[in-house]
Amino acid sequence: MPKPPAAARAGVHYEVVAAHLQAHLFQVTLTIAQPQAQQTVSLPVWIPGSYLVREFAKNLQQLHAHQGGKPLPVQQRDKQRWQVACDSAVPLVVEYVVYANDPSVRTASLNTERGFFNGTSLCLRPEGHADQRCTIDIPAPENIAASASWTCATGLFCLKTDGAGFGLYQAENYDELVDCPVEMGAFWSARFQAGGVQHRLVVAGAAPTFDGKRLLADTRKICETAIAFWHGQDEGTSKSKPPFKSYVFLLNAVHDGYGGLEHRNSTALVCARADLPRTTAPHTSEGYTTLLGLISHEYFHTWNVKRLRPSEFTHYDYTQENYTELLWFFEGFTSYYDDLLLRRAGLIDDAAYFKLLTKTAQQVLQAPGRKVQTVAQASFDAWVKFYRSDENTPNATISYYTKGALVALCLDLTLRRVCNATLDGVMRALWQRCAGGPMAESDVRAVLQQLAGRSFDAELDAWVHSTAELPLAELLGAHGVTLKAEVPQPAQRLGLRVAEGSAVQIKAVLRGGLAERAGMASGDEWLGIEVQGQGWRIAKLTDLALYAGAEKQVTALVARDARLLRLPLQLEPGAAPRKGGQTTAAPADTVSLAVSDRALVAQWLESA
Ligand code: ZN
Repeated sequence: MPKPPAAARAGVHYEVVAAHLQAHLFQVTLTIAQPQAQQTVSLPVWIPGSYLVREFAKNLQQLHAHQGGKPLPVQQRDKQRWQVACDSAVPLVVEYVVYANDPSVRTASLNTERGFFNGTSLCLRPEGHADQRCTIDIPAPENIAASASWTCATGLFCLKTDGAGFGLYQAENYDELVDCPVEMGAFWSARFQAGGVQHRLVVAGAAPTFDGKRLLADTRKICETAIAFWHGQDEGTSKSKPPFKSYVFLLNAVHDGYGGLEHRNSTALVCARADLPRTTAPHTSEGYTTLLGLISHEYFHTWNVKRLRPSEFTHYDYTQENYTELLWFFEGFTSYYDDLLLRRAGLIDDAAYFKLLTKTAQQVLQAPGRKVQTVAQASFDAWVKFYRSDENTPNATISYYTKGALVALCLDLTLRRVCNATLDGVMRALWQRCAGGPMAESDVRAVLQQLAGRSFDAELDAWVHSTAELPLAELLGAHGVTLKAEVPQPAQRLGLRVAEGSAVQIKAVLRGGLAERAGMASGDEWLGIEVQGQGWRIAKLTDLALYAGAEKQVTALVARDARLLRLPLQLEPGAAPRKGGQTTAAPADTVSLAVSDRALVAQWLESA
């Protein structure tokens, strides 16, 4: 389409051109109508919601600036900042190219099939103008025939676009600009209403068997359940309306992938193509339940982290890490509610819900790091630990997602049992108290005190700020669910995380386990065992039972740094062997959940 008239542009204007699809290059032009005498522009080093410094500037190239057609010298100040001396009376034009070839939801991607970008990867932040309204022109790519079928979708406010969604958009400030990812390509798209607000579902990369109608209907149920959670059931009143004017799900289906990133009125998602619902298979696959959980998770974030958010995130600092101790609340509680809302929306049954909860409980119980790091510390250290996991991660850290979800569970069950209150009530009271804006842990404590009529300091100190075990068995038992110890799988029994193929690749050795005692190390290739003088090749851990039988001691043959090692390996723990079916005081690391009282369970899972 023709260039929009200059009058429609704001004082800060971007043009993002999908310039070279085969070379994965976006061409970006930033025009600042009234630049500063020394105008600085910078590219973020991280994207809110994903707590890792990613140095997006590494993909920025060929930056140059001019005013009124006259080239200006550009001084690079550091890895992400450039400065230009200019005439403040003349618009400054900064042009550059960004290489975009990352299929994740966090950066940008451009190829002959599809384009996607976050503003944090493509849009330079103009110092002194970041609070101003800005416009962004996104023209349709012109250089390949296939792009004729391309359309464009984003949560940005549309000023003037063609029928395919290419054209001029507007954001109130830089924060909003970079919080609205853009998807372009020949994607599937449909719309629905929830809570009086238009929602759009965009799916790129789906297989021909994709059942769009089903995904649309199920996503609508999730949205309606979440809106009712936060704003009650009074349909049509202004109170029941969600805090956004429109919402768009940007889902990219790939052969193998999973992930999501929350935004103020949209979310970018990646799923495995095989996990999409199919017209040829009406049943709900485990993969599809996982996808619905992801949709539910990111949509819940629209309230819990995008609006209610850590006070440290009141103004994002895009130049460095932004630390908070509260990710156990924002990620953990969102993780508690993502699956619970699927159950309340009628998309999964009790059995499926407890299967998901068992998985979460097990992930916490099987991480020795839960005895080393609190969830508050895990939140603060997300930048260097959670997002940079390695072989030591299970031993030294705990996930604020999984343990945070269990903290939410324990709070909810305690409130329900002894205080005639619910965690739902706490979330809604926090929304009111903090006016859907920044909050601190003291707000959580104050709301708990107010709703429960007593302090929850002891619980929060123990569950969030210490490494004490959570009282899962006791609290679940009081709500009609029995937590039972089960016989561990071979990897857990040995204290290993492995990948299995032609041999057993050791990925991590768990603290205090049999493998650690034997001297196994991450990176080892476990080739076989010797039992009673005979050697056996193993390709997977279940082969051990075949060759070792009832033997308690074998020799493990491992390859490490081109040496072959013979390690004495005990196959059973020396003291206090575990027995199945018993709930123990020190929690077992392998558990199952069984409903023992349906009425009590219904009270918990169905009542808000
Ligand atoms: Zn999340």
